[in-house]
Amino acid sequence: MAGEPQADCLFCKIVEGKVPATVVRETETTIAFRDINPQAPTHVLVIPKVHHPDAASLAAAEPTVIADILREAGEIAAEEGVADQGYRVVFNTGAGAGQTVFHAHLHVLGGRGLQWPPG
Ligand code: 5GP
Ligand code: ZN
Repeated sequence: MAGEPQADCLFCKIVEGKVPATVVRETETTIAFRDINPQAPTHVLVIPKVHHPDAASLAAAEPTVIADILREAGEIAAEEGVADQGYRVVFNTGAGAGQTVFHAHLHVLGGRGLQWPPG
């Protein structure tokens, strides 16, 4: 059921502490940890503690948690010292857009030049 921990979900396992992660921030509703395969000097994933497969599903069910995630992204960018130069926040949604983990997560990327459009 959406919102409940999923036994086969990698990010639910990180929330539950069953899979290790380098956690940079945690709130009542979110956890942020470093991406295992970073695409920029700062590459942090911000996830909701509740399981929803993508950002739109999360927004429909728990709109305040999407706001929590975006607020955390701003705090992370400031803490990592990338806010002034500019950083990117991305919700890949669907396999065709590169989503590989179907537990909503926001990528926070910074610390290098970022092209637009991203390709
Ligand atoms: P997506 O491709 O779904 O938008 O993003 C999933 C991200 O999760 C990828 O950037 C990938 O490197 C990261 N990732 C996959 N497995 C792990 C893991 O076990 N630990 C961490 N920290 N990141 C992971
Ligand atoms: Zn999950």
